Amino acid sequence: MTDSLTELTIVQARDGLAAREFSSEELTRAHLNAIEAARDLNLFITETPDLALERARAADARRAKDAAAGPMDGIPIAVKDLFCTEGVLTTAGSHILDGFTPTYESTVTANLRDTGAVMVGKTNLDEFAMGSANVTSYYGPAKNPWNAGDGKNRVPGGSSGGSAAAVAAHLCSASIGTDTGGSIRQPAAFCGIVGLKPTYGRCSRWGIIAFASSLDQAGPLTRSVGDAAIMLDIMAGHDAKDSTSAPVEKPDFEAALGGGVRGLKVGIPREYRIEGAPDEIEALWQQGIEWLKDAGAEPVDITLPHTKYALPTYYIVGPAEASSNLARYDGVRYGLRVPGETLDEMYENTRGQGFGAEVRRRVLIGTYALSAGYYDAYYVKAQKVRTLIAHDFKTAFETVDLILTPTAPSAAFVIGEKMDDPIAMYLNDIFTVPASLAGLPGISVPAGLNPEGLPLGLHLIGRPFDEETVLRAAEALETAAGFNTRPAYLKDA
Ligand code: GLN
Repeated sequence: MTDSLTELTIVQARDGLAAREFSSEELTRAHLNAIEAARDLNLFITETPDLALERARAADARRAKDAAAGPMDGIPIAVKDLFCTEGVLTTAGSHILDGFTPTYESTVTANLRDTGAVMVGKTNLDEFAMGSANVTSYYGPAKNPWNAGDGKNRVPGGSSGGSAAAVAAHLCSASIGTDTGGSIRQPAAFCGIVGLKPTYGRCSRWGIIAFASSLDQAGPLTRSVGDAAIMLDIMAGHDAKDSTSAPVEKPDFEAALGGGVRGLKVGIPREYRIEGAPDEIEALWQQGIEWLKDAGAEPVDITLPHTKYALPTYYIVGPAEASSNLARYDGVRYGLRVPGETLDEMYENTRGQGFGAEVRRRVLIGTYALSAGYYDAYYVKAQKVRTLIAHDFKTAFETVDLILTPTAPSAAFVIGEKMDDPIAMYLNDIFTVPASLAGLPGISVPAGLNPEGLPLGLHLIGRPFDEETVLRAAEALETAAGFNTRPAYLKDA
C-alpha cells in the first residue's frame, strides 16, 4: 500500500482520497519515506516533514467533514526553492541567502497551500535559476533518477532540476518550478515527465525570487498532461500584487482536455533543424509529426527567421535583468554578511563569497551590457531583436495553431560535462528560449527513450494565453507515445 501510493498521479490520488481509499496522512507519509530513501539524489535543499504531516492531517479533517478545499486537497507537492515560503528557509540555491526565512508566501504557493496541497519540501535548483543542469547550486548537484546503466550519474537538467527529478523519482505527486529560458521544459524532458511553462503573465511572479523579470514564469511539473492542467488551474490567475500578471479570464484547463487535435495546424519550423544535433532528436521530431498527423492534425512547414538570434538575445536580456535584480543582495538586507573594514569592502566580500561563478559571470555580463556607452549597442539592440523574434511567432500563428519542436538538443548528460564551457551549456536552451523571449506558453511531453535508455521530450508552443490548445495537443502526444515514466532508479530499488 505504502509503495503504491507514490505511484499515483494527481488524478488518481484525488480519486483515491475522495473515495476514502487512503488518507492524506498515509499518502504524505509514503512520499516522506520515499524522500528519506532517496537522499542520495540530493533533490531537496529543505525537507518539511512536520509541516507536511500537519497539513495532511488538516486535509483529512476537512475531508471527514466533506469540505475538501480543492481538487488537490491533501496531495503532496514539492516546491522549487525559488518560491518564498512563509516560515520555511528559502535559498535560491545560493550561499548569499543563508538563513533567509521569508515572512510571506508567494502567490502561487499560497494558491496551492490554500486549496490544500501539501508541501513536502523545497527542491534543489541552479543558483538563482541560472543553469541547465542543476550543477551551479551551492548545495551541490541534483541527480537524475534515470541512468544509462553505465554507473554514471546524469544531470536532471536545470534550473528546476530538483523539482523535475523529484516527480520522476516518485517523491511527490507533482512539483512546481520556474522557467526563464527553458527551466521547466528542459528538466522535464531530461527526467521523462511533463513540464508546462504558461504564457508570461498567466501565473503571478509575486514572491518568486527574481532572475529575469520579463521572462520568469512559474509552472507545473507532473507525470501526466492531465495533472499539469489541474495544477495550472490552481496556480494561475490575475494577482494585483504583480503588475505583470495578466488581467485575463482563467479558463478551466482541465475541461479543455480530451478535445483532440483534429483539424489543428501544427507548424514545423525549419530553423530548428540544427546541425550537429544527434539523429535520435531528428527521429523523435519526425515521430511526433507522424503522431499528430495520425491524430488528425495537419503539419505545416513554417519559418521563424530570427531563431538564430534567440540565444545571443537571451544572454543579453537575461543577465541585464539579473544584474539589476541581484543588486539587492548586499549583506545588509538578507542572508549572508561577510564583514570588511569598510562598507564597500563588506559589500565586496559578501557578494564575492556569496555568489557562485555562474551568477558572478551573469552579473558582470549584465552590468556591462547596461553600462553607459554599451547600453545601445547591446541591451537596446537585444530588445529590438527580441521584438523581431516575437513577430516571427505572431506571423506563424496566423497560419498555424501550434508549433512542434524537440525540447532539447540532447538527452541528459553526465554530471560534470559542459562545466568548463558555458556556451555548450547555453546551447541546451536553443529550442526553448525563443518562446520565452516571445512570452508564449510551451510544454514538454515525454515521448521516448534514446538508444542509451534516457528520456527525450517533445515541445509544443502555443499562442499567448492558449494553454488549452497546448494541453489538448500535449495529451494527444502523450497518448500516442505511451511513455512509461518509471526510471531505472525505481526499478532497481
Ligand atoms: N538555462 C537557462 C539559463 O541558464 C534558463 C534558465 C531558466 O529558465 N531559469 O539561463
